[in-house]
Amino acid sequence: MCGIIGYVGPQGTDVTSILLNGLSRLEYRGYDSAGIAVLTSAGSLELHRRSGKIANLADAVENGSRPGQGTLGIGHTRWATHGRPNDVNAHPHPDCTGVLTVVHNGIIENYAELRQELQQTGHTFCSETDTEVLSHLIEHYYFHQASHDLVESVRFALLRVTGSYAIAVVSREHADLLVGARCNGPLIVGLGEQEQFLASDIPAILKHTRRVLILEEGEIVALRPNSVTVSTLDGKTVQRGPLIVEWDAEAAEKGGYPHFVLKEIYEQPDALRRALLGRIREGQLHLAEMERMQRTGLFDNVQRVLIIACGSSHHAGMLAKYIIEQWARIPVEAVTAAEFRYCDPLVGPETLCIAVTQSGETADTLVGIRQAREQGAPVIAITNVVASAITRLADAVLYLQAGPEIGVVSTKTFICSLAVLYLLALYLGQQRGRISNEQANTILAALERIPGQMQHVLDSARSADDTIEPLAKRIARVSSIMFIGRSVGYPTALEGALKLKEISYIHAEGFPAGELKHGSIALLDPDTPLVAIATSSHVYEKVVSNMQEVRARDARVIAVATAGDEGIRRHADDVLYVPETLEALSPLLAIIPLQLFAYHAAVARGCNVDQPRNLAKSVTVE
Ligand code: GLU
Repeated sequence: MCGIIGYVGPQGTDVTSILLNGLSRLEYRGYDSAGIAVLTSAGSLELHRRSGKIANLADAVENGSRPGQGTLGIGHTRWATHGRPNDVNAHPHPDCTGVLTVVHNGIIENYAELRQELQQTGHTFCSETDTEVLSHLIEHYYFHQASHDLVESVRFALLRVTGSYAIAVVSREHADLLVGARCNGPLIVGLGEQEQFLASDIPAILKHTRRVLILEEGEIVALRPNSVTVSTLDGKTVQRGPLIVEWDAEAAEKGGYPHFVLKEIYEQPDALRRALLGRIREGQLHLAEMERMQRTGLFDNVQRVLIIACGSSHHAGMLAKYIIEQWARIPVEAVTAAEFRYCDPLVGPETLCIAVTQSGETADTLVGIRQAREQGAPVIAITNVVASAITRLADAVLYLQAGPEIGVVSTKTFICSLAVLYLLALYLGQQRGRISNEQANTILAALERIPGQMQHVLDSARSADDTIEPLAKRIARVSSIMFIGRSVGYPTALEGALKLKEISYIHAEGFPAGELKHGSIALLDPDTPLVAIATSSHVYEKVVSNMQEVRARDARVIAVATAGDEGIRRHADDVLYVPETLEALSPLLAIIPLQLFAYHAAVARGCNVDQPRNLAKSVTVE
């Protein structure tokens, strides 16, 4: 995820200010590096790129050679996916000739093949990014046509790529033309008077116009000061009227949501699609990072797996224990990183250590992993941040590809950590011959259906028959809530409880459902509700028995259950339904109503949901 801005207008415009201002509105989308390219009135295409936040770029531009006034420009703020976050990998990326330059949001999945092909035909690459193949591919088609038709060159190039993209492209030879295109990445057009804008998101252009054209997947747009033409990748012209945006800039940054947390909860179907992107192709699992690691022989002696993490990442690790043990038949332990380092851990080359940390900077996890490495353990890092500290300690890195998460509590990064752990479990299962092709196909197909099913839960929560918000409002004044689950429902219960604690400050505890009667059931009374994860599973009947034990103590029971299970209503006061999926994957859906429940309870209590008290997004102290 990154931010793109583009501008085309009359001679003599201060394009630099328009681009820098637009980028500052998009910084929430990524801040690994930023860059602009401006076509000045003198006809030169001036490029400025800096690692770090947009302020670094702005300083460099204002204190250095600020581009003069011009007609055309593009800008980018990066959330690195391929290549370190440094100056060289910062966008825009020029072609070999310096005539063309490109900014890109997304991932070009077949970049390695294309890069090799282009290098063989004489193109020179300067960066490590996947994006740069686009610059050279467009160059290839551009200079092969006598007319140097930019729109057609972009079209031909995009027909060669797979993956996701939103792009903006300019040529020094076309001072009045800005080209954009999208496929699984956001891109909008802002319609002005004798000037047009292109952006990843509405806030970037709201200062200039409220008339917006939303591009659809697989569309190319050619913007000129007095015209905007949209066409499809196969060349058909598209007619579409503009929308008028009513939001103010701050609300627009949150996409119209009142809080980033809610926006990120609603982004989860897309985040999950991104986490799976390139890793499931034509129904088959592709984990290139793991295949590379396997070739080094590091798996050869592995006899057990240790998952080291904190907070929500630890809950994802606890879930993965059930899954890896079931699919790969290898013993797994999930430990909290802060304890791991002090337990004189027994690890060596036979213990595969998996570190899960969204920020890649969690101090407890880093220390634990360093220790494991010193003892010879192979390490896999699962993180959302490219080139973060954990990646330097790992033999293989699996990125979440979730995009930046602004709300302090994990929502979409929890879902993406889980998704990556499922893929890893499947990989280990296949590698150890414990999962047949048929089983793998069933799991992958079910996983690919989850984003749509998640969307269904989210859409219902916005509809008139929503039950989650009214329930959260009713419950918001209690002082304590219990959560129970069995098997994969147990870590789901822990995560549901953690979300509620973190943002609503209601005391919440998660328990294995069968453990409750061994002590903690003493806490239950009519003022202490209990949430039970009671989705379809091999432990369903057992969970229902535990719910009955609780109801016998007059506690109010809320069940998370599978759609169609009307029988559960006999055992629960309230039911939150989620669609049916494989039991192993059910936490991906069961957690959604619990996130929304925590969110609405927190709002009802007037809490600061985006920045809860006492918490920080990345915990870099031990
Ligand atoms: N894949 C591109 C890169 O790593 C674009 C990432 C983005 O969307 O910011 O440079």
